[in-house]
Amino acid sequence: MERYDQARFSQADDAEYEPLLSEKSTEEVEVESSLPDDLTRDSLELPDLSEPELVRHYVRLSQQNYGVDTGPYPLGSCTMKYNPKFTEDLAARPEAAVHPDRSEESVQGTLGLLHGLQEQLKKIGGMDAVTLQPPAGAAGEFAGILLAKAYHESRGEGAQRDEIVIPDSAHGTNFASAALGGYDVVELPSADDGRVDLDALEAAVGENTAALMLTNPNTLGLFERDIEEIADVVHDAGGLLYYDGANLNALLGRARPGDMGFDIMHFNVHKTFATPHGGGGPGAGPVGVTDDLAEFLPNPQVRETDAGFEFFEPDSSIGKVHGFYGNWLVLVKAYAYIARLGDDGLGDAAAKAVLNANYLAEQVEYDVPFEPFHHEFVASAGDQDAADVAKRMLDYAVHPPTTKWPEIVSEALMTEPTEVESKRTLDQLAAAFNAVADESTETIESAPERTTARRIDQTEAARNPRLSWHALDN
Ligand SMILES: *Cc1c(COP(=O)(O)O)cnc(C)c1O
Repeated sequence: MERYDQARFSQADDAEYEPLLSEKSTEEVEVESSLPDDLTRDSLELPDLSEPELVRHYVRLSQQNYGVDTGPYPLGSCTMKYNPKFTEDLAARPEAAVHPDRSEESVQGTLGLLHGLQEQLKKIGGMDAVTLQPPAGAAGEFAGILLAKAYHESRGEGAQRDEIVIPDSAHGTNFASAALGGYDVVELPSADDGRVDLDALEAAVGENTAALMLTNPNTLGLFERDIEEIADVVHDAGGLLYYDGANLNALLGRARPGDMGFDIMHFNVHKTFATPHGGGGPGAGPVGVTDDLAEFLPNPQVRETDAGFEFFEPDSSIGKVHGFYGNWLVLVKAYAYIARLGDDGLGDAAAKAVLNANYLAEQVEYDVPFEPFHHEFVASAGDQDAADVAKRMLDYAVHPPTTKWPEIVSEALMTEPTEVESKRTLDQLAAAFNAVADESTETIESAPERTTARRIDQTEAARNPRLSWHALDN
């Protein structure tokens, strides 16, 4: 509390927020120039501030922010884990700044890294081929849907197979990707135990099914134990099985979607393999496929020949889904992270992710209706509103979990501590949960009290964001 008040004190005047630079200084900079008069302006609309004023402005803003470098960030499903700085250092090296139009011969190291990452991801996912091009998980989903479509079309079943089956616990992007791909979405209700209901699946799947999209462990953190039967049901009907890789952290180095029968998968490298995300990116969503679908992958792919590495276009490629070869620097970080951890390290990360989630759930007083979960759990805020709980947790200086989703759990607090947090941090997190659990509705419904911005209109902020100074004018 005290530290916070000091920060507020240091803000100019009695402004509620840190003022904009243009609000701090209304004087404009006089420009003296030896250029001809008709080529110069009298003044520039730049604030006239000293270096310390400028530096303090940005440092204060950074201190008002919360991030994985500030504290734990247990956003279930989003996997906001601390990302080691050595990956940032590598991506920031001048050698990493390659112009995408350079000739293949002159960027053999770049192509070697891309090829290496393709190979690493193939091995981790149990897939036969991988594209690195999609720039996010959702973009990977959409590319995956286009691949499924190309596959069915090549077999003359494109028009007939116009449905995609998705469990009700799935991430919203699954529904959006399927719809954007021109498919009708068939929503699959979950069984009482929170998993895929096999009877419902058999009823939903048939000759119109293009694919089933599945997250495993699902968004309740539950492993789909019947995955082999699920795969058989889908494959027997002629459909494909799509793996949403957002929860790969639970399986990393221990189990592979390819071995479970999945035909297509995306990796959220920004969730699983370093690169902080949030705020819209940048990320990368590489897509892995089995041999049957490799010919449709986006262009270009990288392959190794006797003469070195080269780009090539797969035979029946769906084309490009992003400029050049994707978000290169994010891929550098993913490659470095995987190389540094090695096979054992990846398996260890998964084990710790699961251990940490289970330890935290033990300490938290809120009820956790679905078990046994893996790297994340979904607690119920019970009589409290999950959004109030989340806002109140900010007052205890930790980031709250994902709320109100999946809807199978009422007032859901979807929590994923990730493998990087220590027992000490998990205990702090649990203390914050439990302090809020004991508080009254009156206390929590007006939270947060101790943050720079109080309750904002979240819907308005998402639907009608005002991101510039000029927008504030009107
Ligand atoms: C994050 C997430 C996605 C979408 O990934 P983005 O990289 O954010 O586009 C898809 N499915 C699940 C389950 C997720 O958690």
